[in-house]
Amino acid sequence: MNVVCLDMEGVLVPEIWIAFAEASGIPELKRTTRDEPDYDKLMRWRLDILKEHGLGIREIQDTIAKIDPLPGAKEFLDALRRETQAIILSDTFEQFAKPLMEKLDWPTIFCNTLEVADSGEITGFRMRCPQSKLTTVRGLQSIGYDTIAAGDSFNDLGMIQASKAGFLFKSTDAIKADHPEVPAYEEFGDLLQAIRAALD
Ligand SMILES: [Mg+2]
Repeated sequence: MNVVCLDMEGVLVPEIWIAFAEASGIPELKRTTRDEPDYDKLMRWRLDILKEHGLGIREIQDTIAKIDPLPGAKEFLDALRRETQAIILSDTFEQFAKPLMEKLDWPTIFCNTLEVADSGEITGFRMRCPQSKLTTVRGLQSIGYDTIAAGDSFNDLGMIQASKAGFLFKSTDAIKADHPEVPAYEEFGDLLQAIRAALD
């Protein structure tokens, strides 16, 4: 039995914080783990900025609702879900992902969660488990599934390498050059075909 594990940002939807920085007109929010490798520190800094701008969960969800999935992403996911099981594994937060999942017709997503006060203010965040993508793939394998994984970034390599088949999708030249052993695709049609071939 197969389950396909897909990264979300950069694969199915744009990078949420970058798109959100543009949609909200707050360029500081483009800062990523490349600028601040300590994720905990980066998230606290982001939450402080949201607070400064008076942005609570409702305003953020309204803004994220203006972001669209990447062209072809929904059709890809629809086709995939007709043939096998698919789960989106992401380091984002369920409250941020929600408006985008609606546009993808509510696929299953495993990610993290924000702590939100009744007023809508985001007061904190809770990460699900360490190395969430790799840990989840191992968990699925422990209950009898073969996993097939695809993602674009460094934090996807663990699940890609631990899976029966794994693919880079819309990745960077540097990551592709460092991992010539991982097939890399740019188009949804090519990824779908590669996944189909790995399903048997
Ligand atoms: Mg990604």
